[in-house]
Amino acid sequence: MKKLIIFSDFDGTFTAKDIGNRIFTHFSNGRNIPLVDDWKKGLITSRECLLKEAELVSVSPTEFYSFLEGFELSPGAIELYALAQKKNVPFIILSDGLDLYIEHILRKYNLPIPSFSNRGYLENGGLRFEFPYDNNGCERCGSCKGERIKEFILKHNIERTQSQILYVGDGLSDICALPESDIIFARGDLLNYCHINGFSAIEYQNFFDILKWLQNAGLTAG
Ligand SMILES: [Mg+2]
Ligand SMILES: [Zn+2]
Repeated sequence: MKKLIIFSDFDGTFTAKDIGNRIFTHFSNGRNIPLVDDWKKGLITSRECLLKEAELVSVSPTEFYSFLEGFELSPGAIELYALAQKKNVPFIILSDGLDLYIEHILRKYNLPIPSFSNRGYLENGGLRFEFPYDNNGCERCGSCKGERIKEFILKHNIERTQSQILYVGDGLSDICALPESDIIFARGDLLNYCHINGFSAIEYQNFFDILKWLQNAGLTAG
């Protein structure tokens, strides 16, 4: 097997539910929903969507962190990460959500997984966002997952012909990762997108399906 590298989306993929979306919906009383619809239709970019959502949100730090208590990881997420650790397979989270809740949840589960995302700050009873990454012309994304994969490959001197990029996702924020990936696990909107646009993807329900696939491919825990 070629050198395997695993990239995973966070919201609705590594976690069972889309935490970012639930936060914006809950703390804007649903006023963000038309914005998300416009984003899904490609009428506005992720950055426009997030900045407009931020304007609608009112939340204190206490409310924010107690809301996060209600979320769990996807079944098998911890097990897949443990296997990757054991086999020296890089495991990286790529998200178009916010470090604010991603890092909180990863700390809660004691998972020191590197993650690349947009930045969020709890300020003045609301949320403020920053976009620290250069997306090299991609107008679609807040933090472009395709660009993050390319940067990772360059930074770590990875020989692309000797490596296999495995990507796991569930939504339209994952689509720029598809051309950079060799093995795609998809569900939800991402699976539909793959079907319509000719990307061959493996349908999965949770991370145990991916574990099983990797074990069949010869990457076993033993
Ligand atoms: Mg997602
Ligand atoms: Zn992009």
